[in-house]
Amino acid sequence: MFNKIGQEDIKVFETIFGKEKCFSGTEIESEYAKDEMGTIISYPEIRVIADNKYQISELMQYANQKRIPVTVRGAGTGLVGGCVATRGGVLLDLTEMNQIIELDQINMTLRAQPGVLMLDIYDFVEKENLFYGPDPGEKTATIGGTIATNAGGMRAIKYGTTREWIRGLEVVLPSGEIIKTGGKVVKNSSGYPLKELFIGTEGTLGIIVEATLKLTSLPKFSTSLLAPFETSIKAIEAAPELIKRHVTPTAVEYVDQTSLKYSNEFLGKHMPHDNYDAYLLLSYDGTSKEALDADITLASQLCLELGAIDVYLIDTEERKDSVWTIRGAFLEAIKASTTEMDEIDVVLPRSKIASYLEFTQDISKKLNLRMPYFGHVGDGNLHIYFCRDDLKEDVWQQKLKEAFDVMYDRAFANGGLVSGEHGIGYAKKAYLEKQIGATQIKLMREIKKIFDPNNILNPDKIV
Ligand SMILES: Cc1cc2nc3c(=O)[nH]c(=O)nc-3n(C[C@H](O)[C@H](O)[C@H](O)COP(=O)(O)OP(=O)(O)OC[C@H]3O[C@@H](n4cnc5c(N)ncnc54)[C@H](O)[C@@H]3O)c2cc1C
Repeated sequence: MFNKIGQEDIKVFETIFGKEKCFSGTEIESEYAKDEMGTIISYPEIRVIADNKYQISELMQYANQKRIPVTVRGAGTGLVGGCVATRGGVLLDLTEMNQIIELDQINMTLRAQPGVLMLDIYDFVEKENLFYGPDPGEKTATIGGTIATNAGGMRAIKYGTTREWIRGLEVVLPSGEIIKTGGKVVKNSSGYPLKELFIGTEGTLGIIVEATLKLTSLPKFSTSLLAPFETSIKAIEAAPELIKRHVTPTAVEYVDQTSLKYSNEFLGKHMPHDNYDAYLLLSYDGTSKEALDADITLASQLCLELGAIDVYLIDTEERKDSVWTIRGAFLEAIKASTTEMDEIDVVLPRSKIASYLEFTQDISKKLNLRMPYFGHVGDGNLHIYFCRDDLKEDVWQQKLKEAFDVMYDRAFANGGLVSGEHGIGYAKKAYLEKQIGATQIKLMREIKKIFDPNNILNPDKIV
């Protein structure tokens, strides 16, 4: 179905991108054969670094004609093998297309190339007293990657996911044609919402070469609350009640003693008041200090009513930094605690989270498999990890399969979905099919065929 890359093709790529931006054979470093999860490993035949959309357009015209697969890569921080070149071919690296193009203060939009890092976006807009809502945990991800995965993050409960913040996209199609969809406009009832199709489809329908982001004014004041509870279930059950009875927090994170221990060991740092078993870590923001103080007073009272042992105000920069750095390191800390790991990123209705985590604890005991977890309990998105530790390969694979099967079955039976924010990529394909069934998979395949009849763009992913 696909053709291998020969010397003649390499010459063409070198003409398009420049010899110094093309790497093949042993020049390709191992990090370009995997993403951050590292469970799916496959080398591309060539890695090319793009400078502009015209090069990408030329590449796609050539690859389409020659039936050479192309896989798009942002920063490679994905966790489902989405940017791994599972069929070899070209790995299209977008990290050097990293310019902020235009800040429009009147329309409150930011135009950016796909390789701009999230940390640079936040830094840039916050200096102008502006705000970009999505806040995925890994700040070295690219804006293109976060759009392609419809990244979420801790602020999703109040500010939504990436999809709600994208006004316009410029995209190179698998044919090489360049299209613009959406723009700086607030409203859009103009035909089929093609822009939406490129968000969350993980680089399978087109290559995002420019994005127009929506901005709002920066909420100047923010405070966090740390509320310890006697048990994990009590903490998790309090989360939906808090949201129901009060203004929407910016974040509602579940933190427990196990994750704290890994993070302490990994960072060598301790969070204040870290002697309890389970916590809700809440964050509130606003444009007026008085309104924020009122929210915090009410939220603290509610936490105590809902069974919190105490409520600690995390209001100084030092305390905020300490608590959120420790929370932000959970994934890396769990990874460092084991020899190999895999994860599920299910999202459930908030009302089902407590019972789902009880089920998780039972499965961990039953399979004798270490399964630490944490989650954005405010929006029902849980990250549950399977740790290999010293298990032999065959035992590990068998336990992993059993764990994936029962955990997804239980999630689907409770109205949950395969992925809340990390995507399907290569690793979670089978479970997507199980969740949505043959009819919807067929529809997705038909859509893919319209955009990419030769299946050259990011083959093997999602469907
Ligand atoms: C410590 C840690 C914390 C994380 N926390 C979060 C979190 O809170 N929320 C969350 O959602 N994710 C999180 N992630 C996952 C990851 O950071 C996101 O999936 C992110 O969106 C990936 O961006 P990237 O630039 O690294 O993309 P990559 O990993 O390079 O690619 C991801 C997918 O997007 C496609 N792609 C990349 N760029 C483009 C483009 N310009 N056009 C078309 N397709 C493209 C790729 O082909 C691939 O399918 C976390 C990861 C880590 C390691």
